[in-house]
Amino acid sequence: MSQNHPDRRTFAIISHPDAGKTTLTEKLLVAGGAIHMAGEVKARGQARRARSDWMKIEQQRGISVTSSVMTFEHQGLVFNLLDTPGHEDFSEDTYRTLTAVDSAVMVIDAAKGIEPQTLKLFEVCRLRSVPIITFINKVDREGQSPFELLDEVADRLALDVCPMNWPVGMGGTFSGLYDLVEPSLAVPGKEASRAFEGERIALTRHDDPKLAAAVDSRALDQFNEEIELASAGYASFDVDAYRNGDLTPVYFGSALKEFGVVDLLAGLAAHAPGPQPQPAEPAPVRPDDDAVTGFVFKVQANMNPAHRDRIAFMRLCSGKFERGMRLTQGGTGKAIAISRPMLFLAQDREMAEEAWPGDIIGIPNHGTLRVGDTLSERSDVMITGLPNFAPEILRRVALVDPTKTKQLRKALDDMAEEGIIQVFYPEIGANMIVGVVGQLQLDVLISRLEAEYKVEAKLEASPWDTARWIASDDAAALKQFQADNRGAAATDRDGAPVFMAKDAWEVGYVTQRNPSIRFTATKERV
Ligand code: GDP
Repeated sequence: MSQNHPDRRTFAIISHPDAGKTTLTEKLLVAGGAIHMAGEVKARGQARRARSDWMKIEQQRGISVTSSVMTFEHQGLVFNLLDTPGHEDFSEDTYRTLTAVDSAVMVIDAAKGIEPQTLKLFEVCRLRSVPIITFINKVDREGQSPFELLDEVADRLALDVCPMNWPVGMGGTFSGLYDLVEPSLAVPGKEASRAFEGERIALTRHDDPKLAAAVDSRALDQFNEEIELASAGYASFDVDAYRNGDLTPVYFGSALKEFGVVDLLAGLAAHAPGPQPQPAEPAPVRPDDDAVTGFVFKVQANMNPAHRDRIAFMRLCSGKFERGMRLTQGGTGKAIAISRPMLFLAQDREMAEEAWPGDIIGIPNHGTLRVGDTLSERSDVMITGLPNFAPEILRRVALVDPTKTKQLRKALDDMAEEGIIQVFYPEIGANMIVGVVGQLQLDVLISRLEAEYKVEAKLEASPWDTARWIASDDAAALKQFQADNRGAAATDRDGAPVFMAKDAWEVGYVTQRNPSIRFTATKERV
C-alpha cells in the first residue's frame, strides 16, 4: 500500500435506486484493476446473501441493505469506495457513511434526471461541503439531451456545472465520447477484442476529420450542432470551486457499456481531495497530526452467522496506524488493542498491517465498539458530528414467547448498536420501544429476530410516533418535567432522557410550554 495520506481517495457513490450504482461500482473496480471479471460484484453479493437469512429482504425488495467498503490501488493511489445503501428508509446509516468520505460521485440516469433519493443524499453532502463529481449514466439509451441534464443539475442543486466530456449521439446513435479537456474520442472497439473502454482516437479539435470518420452520421450532425455551446457555454473547470462544493465536473457515460468510467476514475484521481480534517473536540483532527485518531461510522453484526462477533468500521483521520496498536475509546477511556484489523480489498479481506488517514479498517469486537466512537492514541480527543436521528415511527415490542426476554434484549441491543434501530426504555411498563426512521427498518428487525436470534416477536402500535432527547441547564426543571410527563418519559440505551410524543405538533406544543427544556431531534455523541 502507498505510504502517505495524500494518496488516498475515500469516496462514496450516491444515487437513486436503479441509476446504475452497482454497475458503476463494478466497472470502477475493473477499470482500477481490482477485479478482472465482469459480474463479480453481484456474484460476491449473492454468495454473501446465501450465508445470511435476514438478507432475504434485500433480495425480495431488490435493494442493498448493508454498506461495505472496497479498497483498491490504482496508479499509485489508494481508492477507498464506501457503499451507501440506496434506499430512502436507510437514511441514518447512509448519512453516517457520508461522514466518513472526502468526496462523492453522484450517478444520474440520463433518462430520469435527478430523482428524490439523489436529491436527499446530495443535501447531506452539501451540509458537510463534500465535493461531488457527477456521472450521467446510460447515454447508450434514449434520454434527455445533455443540455437539459446539465441545466437540471445546475438549477436544482444550485451548482456550477462543467462538462468534462460530451456524448456523440445518444441512445441508438450513440457513437462515442468526446473529451472536452484533451480533444480525443473514445469509440466502441470490436466486440471480440474489446479492451475496456474500447479505442481512443487522438484529435486536434472537435472538427478533426478523424472524428467524422469514426461516428454515425446522424450523431455527427447532432454533435456539430451541440459542440460550440458545450465547449463555451459552461463554467470552466476550477479545482477550488469543486473542492468547496460550488462546482461539479460532469462526466457522461455508460457504466454498462463501459464508457466514460476510465475518465471518471482519472477525474477522481486528479481532482478529488485526499483526507480532510475532521471536526472534533477540543480541535479538528488533521490528517498530518502524528497521533492516530479515527472514528467508528458503522458497526455490522453477524457478518458471519457462525460467530457472534461484529465488525466496527473505523475511518482513520490522522497518524499512521499499525497493527497491534492500543487505542483509547473516547468516552469510556478504555484502552483497546487492535490486533486483528481488516482491510477490505475488492476480492478479499486482508489483515491490515498499517493504515493511513482516509483508510477504513474493520475491527472485530464483541460489542465494545459503537457507532460514533472515537479511537485514538490520545485520550483527550472526541470526533464530533455523527448524529442519531429522531425516530419517526415508534413501536412496542411484544414477545410471543415471554421466556425469551433475555434474547430479545440482546437482539435489540445488537441492532441498536448497528444503528438499524433505536431502543427506548419507558418509565412506565416493561415493554421496550423501538424507534426507526423508516418502515423498512422494522422489516429488517422482525426478519433478523427470527432468523438470527430465534425470537418471535410482534410490533404493536404505541401511543407515540416520535421522540426527542431532552436536556436542561436547570436539573430541577428537567426532573419536574419528567415527573409531570411520566407516561411519555423514557431513556435511551445510554440512559439519556427522552420525551416521546404523538407527533411533531405535540413536540411543538410541549416545547413552547417548557422553555427551560431543550428538545433535540438529533443526539450528537460529543
Ligand atoms: P443500482 O440500483 O443503482 O445499483 O443500479 P444497477 O447498477 O443495479 O442498474 C440498474 C439497471 O440499469 C440494471 O438493469 C443495469 O443493467 C442497468 N444499467 C446500468 N448502467 C447502465 C447503462 O449504462 N446503460 C444501460 N442501458 N443500462 C444500464
